[in-house]
Amino acid sequence: MTAPIRLGLVGVGKIARDQHIPSIGRNPAFELVATASRSASVDGVARFATPAEMLDAMPQIDAVALCVPPQVRHAMAADALRRGKHVLLEKPPGATLSEVAHLADLAETQGVSLFATWHSRFAPGVAPARKWLAGRQMRSVRVEWKEDVRHWHPGQDWIWEPGGLGVFDPGINALSIVTEILPEFMFLTGGELSFPENRAAPIAASLRFAGASGAAMNAEFDWRQTGPQTWDIHVGTDAGDLLLSSGGARLWIDGESVVDQAEAEYDGIYARFAELVASGGSAVDLAPLRHVADAFMLGRHLTVEPFHDQPNRDTA
Ligand code: NAP
Repeated sequence: MTAPIRLGLVGVGKIARDQHIPSIGRNPAFELVATASRSASVDGVARFATPAEMLDAMPQIDAVALCVPPQVRHAMAADALRRGKHVLLEKPPGATLSEVAHLADLAETQGVSLFATWHSRFAPGVAPARKWLAGRQMRSVRVEWKEDVRHWHPGQDWIWEPGGLGVFDPGINALSIVTEILPEFMFLTGGELSFPENRAAPIAASLRFAGASGAAMNAEFDWRQTGPQTWDIHVGTDAGDLLLSSGGARLWIDGESVVDQAEAEYDGIYARFAELVASGGSAVDLAPLRHVADAFMLGRHLTVEPFHDQPNRDTA
């Protein structure tokens, strides 16, 4: 048996705690040997304040997983790649397309693996949906990704700043699924992005896409949804209809349930990262981030009422 990949985890926030640490713990291909965090630690694991301090002190680290916000990720990833470490990036892989392209070049030059993850692609309904759609003629696609930002992102100020993507932080998960499953290339033709007057990122977006065959896709992203939360993708084809629901955990074909499984997306992510490291490969697909960049370029920017983390507050 080969030795485990010695992993340093950077940023011990919500996703690191909820998903990365448990999945790393379940995968014998990895050993979590250090964390870099300004404020948090993991029991029994060496902790450093910054990733540079971590890599200086522990040169034996083989790979780094970056769970920090996208705006601060590039410098950390570039430093790790220059030191010859394999790098896993949380989604979205960066704040701009060009900085991620730079990381991909750097990984190739350094001969190490770079994995730009899209966790929703590992949801249990996604691979069967892709298989079912292959070879079918797509007619229409409707994406509804509506959730309550106060519930899912309390106090995450970075998400409202430039590069934090606002409602595209979850919306890009839907785009990562459609770019994986649809049998046809889609491109943005128009849309509206709603910016709260006190924020630098949108709280809602309504997007229209077209495909080469004339198929149309509409996507509605909204962070103002209270009550039931919606993460659905409907695809109508010449030979039946598909509904991928609950962020990809459930799949219905022509009204019949064919997948209904608890998500284990991050177990799939770490299994894939181990494969990439073993084979010396990288996986960097920019398609979801490209659609978001297109939306910021082509979408009409609207100003809507201010958003406050705590309702009824006068100031942000
Ligand atoms: P979070 O709870 O705000 O945690 C981010 C962590 O990054 C912070 O705890 C902080 O940890 C560290 N950090 C370093 N520099 C920072 C800076 N300048 N500003 C703010 N934090 C900084 O965020 P998260 O929800 O875990 O999201 C992190 C990434 O994972 C995002 O790209 C997000 O899109 C992605 N993601 C999140 C979820 C989710 O459900 N929350 C799901 C999938 C993917 P230290 O104090 O440890 O330095």
